Amino acid sequence: MPELPPDSVQNQGAPASHAHREPHYEPPVEIEQGLWAFSLPLPFALRQVNVYLINDGAGHLTLVDAGLGLPREEATLREGMARIGVAPEALDAIVLTHAHPDHIGLARAFQEASGAPVYMLEREDERLFNVWGENSGAALKAVTRSFAENGMVLEEAQSDPRVSGAAREGSANAEGQRRAVFPIPPRESITTLTDGETLKLGRWRYQAIWTPGHSDYHLCLLREDGLFIAGDHILPSITPNIGLYPYSRLDPLLDYDESLLKVRDLSTRLTLPGHRAPIVDLVARVNELRAHQRNRSAAVHTLVAAASEEGTIAGDVAAALFGARLRTVDDRRFAMAETLAHLEHLRLRGYVRRERRENLYVYFATRR
Ligand SMILES: [Zn+2]
Ligand SMILES: [Zn+2]
Repeated sequence: MPELPPDSVQNQGAPASHAHREPHYEPPVEIEQGLWAFSLPLPFALRQVNVYLINDGAGHLTLVDAGLGLPREEATLREGMARIGVAPEALDAIVLTHAHPDHIGLARAFQEASGAPVYMLEREDERLFNVWGENSGAALKAVTRSFAENGMVLEEAQSDPRVSGAAREGSANAEGQRRAVFPIPPRESITTLTDGETLKLGRWRYQAIWTPGHSDYHLCLLREDGLFIAGDHILPSITPNIGLYPYSRLDPLLDYDESLLKVRDLSTRLTLPGHRAPIVDLVARVNELRAHQRNRSAAVHTLVAAASEEGTIAGDVAAALFGARLRTVDDRRFAMAETLAHLEHLRLRGYVRRERRENLYVYFATRR
């Protein structure tokens, strides 16, 4: 496989005569030599998700993350790769930073095309199969039940952002035939990594780093030249959602804070986030993210304390925290998971307690 062709190639789009009926696709951006970013459109407030294509030398091509998998995204990625002269068959490796639906959707198609191994951190593959695979019904049902016990009623299909996203985009996937239309990579294609393990891709060595918080077995990869694949662990300008789900580790916010400290002082020169633009000053961003979570925990505690005698439910805390920003069912679901993460973080520290009242959990402050 030759080196990626020079910049000039990316300007060769579809012939002008076809332009009027071709949807508009974001062309890939060459961040530095051998590193391309594809911005895939998402039907959520998040707007887009990044997929990276990295040429690690010796003809080795790695795809990092794989979008939600809706038709517009697939067309953007395929069209973008064609523009830079890379066929899906040429991929040598696929890395999935974590098993959230907006990062796994096209992995199956590109794995099948290339036969490339799919790398994930160990145990995140279980989430891929149990929460988003063929038998995802039980996991999503548990989420729906947990949210209902905390004051937010969802229809079952609304617990899968792939279904609500497809409905919003108006694509055929809205039929809810999750099994048929949201395929995930086959088990035999997955190679799991452990925390601290070295992964050789092309001419470069990468260090696998377990960064729980945003997802329990989230993977960051640090290349020996300081290129840092951050997934959704570190994002610029938006804060990674830290949510609590029935299958989550005990205290995702504590995990997240420790994971932020774990990467803050690594020697990085460029951080590649799962959404939005690359980050140069990792230390500054880590400090901002830590401060943000501390402030939000304090805000949640204040809201629970204000409810004093009668207590409050997570659904009301979420509404007070996020208010008018909750426009879609996906916004509401993220807000609920995040509120629950903060409430549980405070509960494990003794700042709030929880009581079951009929079908609901009610929270009370224990200290001022
Ligand atoms: Zn994510
Ligand atoms: Zn994401």
